[in-house]
Amino acid sequence: MLNRPDDYQKAIDFHGHCCPGLTIGYLAAKAALEHLKVERAEDEELVAIVESDGCGIDAIQVLLGCTIGKGNLIYKDHGKQAYTIGNRKTGQAVRVVMTGDMVPLTPEQEAIKTAVFSGQATPEQEEAWQKLQSERTERLLSATPAQQFKVQDVELKLPSEAKIFKSVICEYCGEKVMEARARLKNGKIACLACTEEYTRGW
Ligand SMILES: [Zn+2]
Ligand SMILES: [Zn+2]
Repeated sequence: MLNRPDDYQKAIDFHGHCCPGLTIGYLAAKAALEHLKVERAEDEELVAIVESDGCGIDAIQVLLGCTIGKGNLIYKDHGKQAYTIGNRKTGQAVRVVMTGDMVPLTPEQEAIKTAVFSGQATPEQEEAWQKLQSERTERLLSATPAQQFKVQDVELKLPSEAKIFKSVICEYCGEKVMEARARLKNGKIACLACTEEYTRGW
């Protein structure tokens, strides 16, 4: 595809490459903007709750202006291609879930993928993988949103407003840490990086 929409190209530039995962995030973001009838967030009026950390999240950040730094991108490790986008101004929110099936890879294609991801691919395998990825991407771009996403109004449940916490000094590494994240280790203040997690496995 030669004539890519500007916003799609921006997402590709930010992410570093064009791939099916990024494209799913791009299409989900477009579906959410359309459903909410809003534009990209200049400030923090939009908030995105994402349930996986794959390539698609980079498109969400570019298209919606929801980023970790601004505090309006919330990541939940659910392993789902689901994106809840809320508008803080109106309280309206939409959940966009990928429902369409990617065409499964054939055993030969799986073998190519494994070779590519292990860094052992031959130039021919690299080329075959790139071609396959762009075919899968084109297929996604040519389907309608209704064919690949479930788009539903949902109630916007946001975590409490960001608070300002005092900083304390970790007595082990000497670095400043937010009080709410500090621990005690042998009776001394410790940051999480200096604390070994105590766990009994549950
Ligand atoms: Zn990618
Ligand atoms: Zn420390």
